[in-house]
Amino acid sequence: MSTIRHTDAVHVRAPGKINVYLGVGPRHDDGYHALATVFQAVSLYEDVYATPADGFSLEVAGSVDVSDVPLDDRNLALRAAKLLARTAGIDEGVHLDIRKGVPVAGGMGGGSADAAATLVACDALWGTGLGPRGLHELAARLGADVPFALHGGTAVGTGRGDELTPALARGRFDWVLVLSEQGLSTPEIYARLDELRTHGDALADDATSLLEVPVALLQALRAGDAAELAPVMLNDLEAAAVLDRPDLEATLAHGVRRGALTGIVSGSGPTIAFLCAGPEAARTVQEELRATGREALHVHGPVPGAQILS
Ligand code: ATP
Repeated sequence: MSTIRHTDAVHVRAPGKINVYLGVGPRHDDGYHALATVFQAVSLYEDVYATPADGFSLEVAGSVDVSDVPLDDRNLALRAAKLLARTAGIDEGVHLDIRKGVPVAGGMGGGSADAAATLVACDALWGTGLGPRGLHELAARLGADVPFALHGGTAVGTGRGDELTPALARGRFDWVLVLSEQGLSTPEIYARLDELRTHGDALADDATSLLEVPVALLQALRAGDAAELAPVMLNDLEAAAVLDRPDLEATLAHGVRRGALTGIVSGSGPTIAFLCAGPEAARTVQEELRATGREALHVHGPVPGAQILS
């Protein structure tokens, strides 16, 4: 049962993301990989309602399966609230009610979106005065994808993916997402890629990109041209995700046969994102995929990052 108290809650919405490009470099000593990525925020959202409280508490519900979401201090939203309170010297608590629309462990940064939304909501609730730069710093400490969920739109991410440069993207891009019932663990998929590379696996080598976003991809985004964007999209993690989940290959092939310009595993997967020529084409691809029993959603991007709705 919902315990949302709409009257005194701050409501913030933050989007999930697709990696239009994900080039993965070697693993650093701190465990992170150097990345060259392009994020696009899409119209699949997390809603966070933050209500003043004495301590810190959390409830999670949503349109996706939330049974694997931790409710203790492993939860990124709870960690975000506590980190903000600690940093800003706030002596108050908060109750967080999270409504998830982004698949859990789906490669779309749902937990990161929760953390970003929580930072914005608690900042509004407590009036911390940290400002956008302060929030960005805390976001980067919480996770590599959290800064992008704050900013949204389309952006190039370097470093661990958290050093962001906004990218110009004209118009709108239509995507059809195919969700999986079973999530994939991001660290496990990175480890699988390392293994593939160490053993010189051809599949991984083929997909290995330069650690630089291709100029043609940035141009296609700037022009708002989906047909030009499709052939230059790439995800270095795809080979590792497909190795874990061979069924993804058939889904990728099916969507393209049914009219998508291209399909790509989103981040560490298993969500697949099909780029379509426009809304009409996307509706057709969505229907064709649904007809095979797959869960398919039509979304668009870019959309804004974490925003206060009330
Ligand atoms: P990543 O952001 O690591 O790429 P993802 O987008 O694939 O991950 P998320 O849904 O963000 O997937 O969460 C991955 C894992 O993080 C979950 O399996 C869960 O154990 C943990 N987690 C922590 N906080 C949250 C949260 N607020 N929502 C969902 N999962 C969370």
